[in-house]
Amino acid sequence: MRVPDYHALVVGAGFSGIGTAITLDRAGLHDYLIVEACDGPGGTWYWNTYPGIAVDIPSFSYQFSFEQSAEWSRTYAPGHELKAYAEHCVDKYGLRPKIRFSTKVLGASFDESENVWRVELDSGETLTSRFLVNASGVLTVPNLPDIDGVDSFAGLTMHTARWDHTADLTGKRVAIIGTGASAVQVIPEIAPIVKQLTVFQRTPIWCFPKADLPLPRPARLAMRIPGGKAVQRWLSQAYVELTFPLAAQYFTINPMAKNMDKVGKAYLRREVHDPVVRDKLTPRYAVGCKRPGFHNTYLSTFNRDNVELVTEPIDKITGSGVATTDGTTYEVDVLILATGFKVMDTDNVPTYPVTGRGGQSLARFWDEHRLQAYEGVSMPGFPNFFTVFGPYGYVGSSYFALIEAQTHHIVRCLKQAARRRATRVEVRQDANDRYFAEMMRKRHRQIFWQDSCALANSYYFDKNGDVPLRPTSTVEAVWRSRRFPLDDYAFTS
Ligand SMILES: Cc1cc2nc3c(=O)[nH]c(=O)nc-3n(C[C@H](O)[C@H](O)[C@H](O)COP(=O)(O)OP(=O)(O)OC[C@H]3O[C@@H](n4cnc5c(N)ncnc54)[C@H](O)[C@@H]3O)c2cc1C
Repeated sequence: MRVPDYHALVVGAGFSGIGTAITLDRAGLHDYLIVEACDGPGGTWYWNTYPGIAVDIPSFSYQFSFEQSAEWSRTYAPGHELKAYAEHCVDKYGLRPKIRFSTKVLGASFDESENVWRVELDSGETLTSRFLVNASGVLTVPNLPDIDGVDSFAGLTMHTARWDHTADLTGKRVAIIGTGASAVQVIPEIAPIVKQLTVFQRTPIWCFPKADLPLPRPARLAMRIPGGKAVQRWLSQAYVELTFPLAAQYFTINPMAKNMDKVGKAYLRREVHDPVVRDKLTPRYAVGCKRPGFHNTYLSTFNRDNVELVTEPIDKITGSGVATTDGTTYEVDVLILATGFKVMDTDNVPTYPVTGRGGQSLARFWDEHRLQAYEGVSMPGFPNFFTVFGPYGYVGSSYFALIEAQTHHIVRCLKQAARRRATRVEVRQDANDRYFAEMMRKRHRQIFWQDSCALANSYYFDKNGDVPLRPTSTVEAVWRSRRFPLDDYAFTS
């Protein structure tokens, strides 16, 4: 049997890929390569550079537990600081020589005769690796709207995830399509500089204020004294756990989120002066059905004279603007698509075709059996393959806590394989079925099953009406990544 090129191949150098690599190194598994499509690390924070981009989770939590920065400028760091943090982690942990940048994975298939993955690259090469870890992200591939004529617009068109920094919006007539989490951040930034901003909204978003402050001096000082970072981290973790996973995953037990509609409406009343505009901005679905926005000036931006909110459905894009179904055409110079990402489409996670045992395609497996993955990490029929943030892996808290949990799970499997001299590791069908049944049994507690969620147009729901988010707390996910029975996997040679 030939020795594969690498023991492990990791696809993606976002925080999941970086976390995987650090965890592999810590376990003494140094023979790996990360393949990354773009020319730098950071993933989300590499691609998304639109004005106003910032994290929605306090910075004390949105970082690795073992690499806490004392450099965050604000309680919610701006995007460029996250990008710098990714670069810092890559350099500090010596990962740069192990990343092949500007190289895209086009497909991967499992070779059963040798127990290796054959991974095709856009350079024309095929690499082999014993294990394949997918860290290609979930919010990675921009979703382009299916609107007639979207390619025919003669002016500049850009997606928020591919911001064109050479474009000067000053004094321009700008249209923005979409009012999701990215639009909430970008609209208040560009409204003061453009001549006219027309916002096309399909579904309003619940927006809440955010304690977004420059980090006060005492907090910065506290980060430099022994234990100071830990205290801030734990306070922040407790806040995040309480307001995200515990509120969303235990909704029927924990009534905390039940009053959030009232809070959201009171905030709308305070911020938006015109009752007609306010009504258009008021969601008809309950808080939690869809990712909310957090911003201190998004709603009040609609008080500006140069901002118009259009809720009439879009009919088509013309060469010079956006036409709505009531016959109005809005002439604009620039078209911004704030239309989000492909998310849990079976051909998007991973971003390339994966073929497992017996020639089985992962996309088809999920199409036929619904989205599922044991502990959000592995699927039966796909030996030696693991994915960070697979279905039912994410609980809604900071991604970092889950990256650390899932990479720990993966590396436990790889260490066990080394101990048993196994060349094939595959989750057992019964373990996968047990986990999926548990997810189904527990999901009734989640916030997503309120009747009004049908009105939310939410990307949480897949085409089967499933919400592949894990109905547990972060603490449980972390604990289980350390305790799941290793016998849930078959280790063979
Ligand atoms: C605008 C925006 C704001 C966000 N804000 C928050 C927030 O406030 N809090 C929070 O917890 N999360 C937030 N997220 C979610 C965020 O995606 C995660 O927190 C985290 O960054 C995901 O890291 P990742 O490594 O899993 O994926 P990504 O960051 O998406 O990285 C995936 C990497 O894989 C590469 N890749 C993909 N396909 C291939 C291929 N075929 N070959 C080679 N390379 C490939 C991509 O180029 C990318 O670099 C936000 C996401 C977006 C888009």
